[in-house]
Amino acid sequence: MPIPSALPRRQFLAGALIAAPALLTAGRSLAAADPFALGVASGEPLPDGFVLWTRIAPDPLAEDGLGGNASPVPVRWEVALDENFRRIAAHGEAMALPDRASAVHVEVSGLAPDRPYWYRFTALGVQSPVGRAWTAPAPGARVERLRMTAASCSHWELGYFAAYRHMAADEESRLTLFLGDYIYEDGPRTPPRPGAVRSYAMPEPTTLAQYRRRYALHRTDPDLRALHAATACVATWDDHEVQNDYSGIWPEDANVSPADFVKRRAAAYRAFCENMPVRISQVMRADGSFRLNRRFGWGSLAQFDVLDGRQFRSPPACIEGLASHRGHMASTACADLEDPSRTYLGFDQERWLYDGFARSKARWNLLVQNLLVAPLEIKTPSDTLIWTDTWNGFGAARRRLIDAMAETRLSNPVTLAGDYHSAWLNDLRRDFHKPQEAPVAAEIVVTSITSNGPPAGAMKAALPDNPHIRFFDAAHRGYTAIDLTPERLDVRCMAIADRADPRTTVSVLHQRQVEAGKPGFA
Ligand code: FE
Ligand code: CA
Repeated sequence: MPIPSALPRRQFLAGALIAAPALLTAGRSLAAADPFALGVASGEPLPDGFVLWTRIAPDPLAEDGLGGNASPVPVRWEVALDENFRRIAAHGEAMALPDRASAVHVEVSGLAPDRPYWYRFTALGVQSPVGRAWTAPAPGARVERLRMTAASCSHWELGYFAAYRHMAADEESRLTLFLGDYIYEDGPRTPPRPGAVRSYAMPEPTTLAQYRRRYALHRTDPDLRALHAATACVATWDDHEVQNDYSGIWPEDANVSPADFVKRRAAAYRAFCENMPVRISQVMRADGSFRLNRRFGWGSLAQFDVLDGRQFRSPPACIEGLASHRGHMASTACADLEDPSRTYLGFDQERWLYDGFARSKARWNLLVQNLLVAPLEIKTPSDTLIWTDTWNGFGAARRRLIDAMAETRLSNPVTLAGDYHSAWLNDLRRDFHKPQEAPVAAEIVVTSITSNGPPAGAMKAALPDNPHIRFFDAAHRGYTAIDLTPERLDVRCMAIADRADPRTTVSVLHQRQVEAGKPGFA
């Protein structure tokens, strides 16, 4: 397998200025403003192409969310076989339109499978930074190895995005998975949050303009831009792309009507689509609906089912008598948990997923999704408690998921999750109270890029009662690296030393394997 030579870092980080047109807008010179200040990205790799993304945003944080550009701009794009753009494989022109906040999504096709490409844009006389993306191997092709990295939960205020920089520096990685909480909708606090290294300096978003600014703010971080330029990504959303702990059409605040919340949710979903390198016409439908769940393959090695774990959920579990609908600790005796009419994915998405299980021919089957699947049962002197916002609040739906894996004899299922700001490696069983039974699947929960870890004391004390949890760490921020071969999955939980230091180092906190044919961690 060819390994690309290292891309010079400065090419990632700085756009080459060909010529700076002297634009004058409202008396302010934009001559020095970089239209590609928010960088470039690629995503959704297929055997013959991927999506290229950029946004014309010379004033990224403009109040109106439009990035300082209010008119259509032609954007030229080029894809090359080499990092010096001597051999062009594809090129074309797209329009950056104010209606999409000048975001550009190009669906490139006609490329060769399983190799690196380099891409760049040119607009307003300026050339963008160079990005790199791998195409997926051909369907059914034998693949010896795939490395990918996975991340979640990057709170802007609580640290620098050094973990993203270390992900970008992994030259072997072919794919980045974002598992949710790519942004947070939090407003700034007075006094600032303990440990804050920078401020959101903008209110909690509720409108399209505000969500657009929020994505722009995150992309002003050079480490995040470097990661997007280094590899193609596949992203799903969790709650904070919209609002903490919302569930379907039900907001966190019980006093806000679902009808009002759905308008806010649509603005947030739209900003996500505009700012991520997704196949936008498939995700953002002409009828105003959104469909994020999708499936892609990596030769015969892997099938990826990317799930939407928020949009179609039932109401939050066990909320009777509560003024707030946020996640909470509820008794396992609460009837909602085993109610088969409650759904986590929505019944249409469930059917789509299980049909995909039945048809999969891949060696490994990965679920790219947002929340913890495994139970975490915390025993108190009088009761047993679970956290309702995860799959723990949807016990019947979780049973259907794991039963479907077992009944379709899905080959080597592995679920990925973020959200919990802690690293976990779990075995998933049909009956979690029978630890002697063979696992059906392995679960990898990725720690946060920066967000605060959960209070670990009660969780650690509960580990003996939850023997399916094979590894747990809440003390470290970082990401997860996964190497797949036909024989095994190798997972490394990566930890940064100090989220407050943008130059912090990274190390392997824990490493573990799953052997093909033996679901669960070795
Ligand atoms: Fe989070
Ligand atoms: Ca979350």
